[in-house]
Amino acid sequence: MADLYAVLGVAPDAPSEELKRAYRRLAREHHPDAGGDEARFKEISHAYDVLGDPERRARYDRYGEDGPGGRGGAGDFGFGGIGDVIDAFFGGFGQPSGGGARRERSGRDVLVGVELTLDEVLSGAARAVEVEVASVCERCDGTGSADGRAPERCGRCGGAGQLRRAVRTPLGSLTTATPCSDCDGTGRRVADPCRGCRGEGRAVRVRTVDVELPAGLEDGDRIPLRGRGEAGRQGAPAGDLYVQVAVTPDPALARDGTDLHTVVDVPVTVLLLGGRLRVRGVGDEVHEVDVPAGARPGTPVTVRRAGLPVRGGGRRGDLVVHLAVDVPAQLDAAQRELVTRLAALRGEADGPHDAAQHRP
Ligand SMILES: [Zn+2]
Ligand SMILES: [Zn+2]
Repeated sequence: MADLYAVLGVAPDAPSEELKRAYRRLAREHHPDAGGDEARFKEISHAYDVLGDPERRARYDRYGEDGPGGRGGAGDFGFGGIGDVIDAFFGGFGQPSGGGARRERSGRDVLVGVELTLDEVLSGAARAVEVEVASVCERCDGTGSADGRAPERCGRCGGAGQLRRAVRTPLGSLTTATPCSDCDGTGRRVADPCRGCRGEGRAVRVRTVDVELPAGLEDGDRIPLRGRGEAGRQGAPAGDLYVQVAVTPDPALARDGTDLHTVVDVPVTVLLLGGRLRVRGVGDEVHEVDVPAGARPGTPVTVRRAGLPVRGGGRRGDLVVHLAVDVPAQLDAAQRELVTRLAALRGEADGPHDAAQHRP
């Protein structure tokens, strides 16, 4: 597989602006419409597809084209996997470390999702989240070496993690750097690799992580757990684990920040005469709500501090009860007679009537 940086004729640590310039120049030069070679043009386009996207570039720097998410499928270890793992890699992982071209040895950040009910938003919750991700190898304690000794400097690249060589390109001879294959670009090598992890110092396994989810979380909130993400190579720092919250919608309660809204069907006689309603709130809470006589459908009745707390469990919002009319579908003979009498008393017995009219 051709080195994608060499295809574009740039160094592996070239800034993205330089990549773009090189790509544009080469694409113009080799465009088939301009008499260029189509295979070469495709190669250039593919190189820029990968290197022009920061996430794909970072993955390529780390694993080459055959790595996870590359076109070759799974690499040495898988990511994500179990249940609610949304995306095992996101954020700034694997970028070449500042200044040097040596590959980053730190673990990447991992994102998992949890679902919460509104009741759990009220009370807060504790969860055991399963993540399947590269974790510290228990056999070698993360060192990667069978004898437990720390990795030594790679003899082939002298610890630089890359090998420089001159490459002929259509633009002339260029010095490019490719990751050292002896140490896989890390600059360090284990003399006697651990059999549990083949010298990586980490291996994929399922880990259970306990997460405290405070009250008041909102859909999309992320709880960071520092150092609980992917393990670093050979004892390097681990990435972070982010737990992303999805709040399951409640069938009767709609959320608006810390306020909750619900619609209740009120019997027409209660609207006429006034009365009390029992309204289910969040958690086990039940509220008694006064309906004034003559209340109109749509009228909001507010129950103070019966909503949700702010994040961390502060002051609660309100529960807003919207009144709707429950019109009986059928009346028996006695009820019908009473309502007919009521209509007659109110002068509403015979139509047509002049109804009050307004814009919808
Ligand atoms: Zn090991
Ligand atoms: Zn090396």
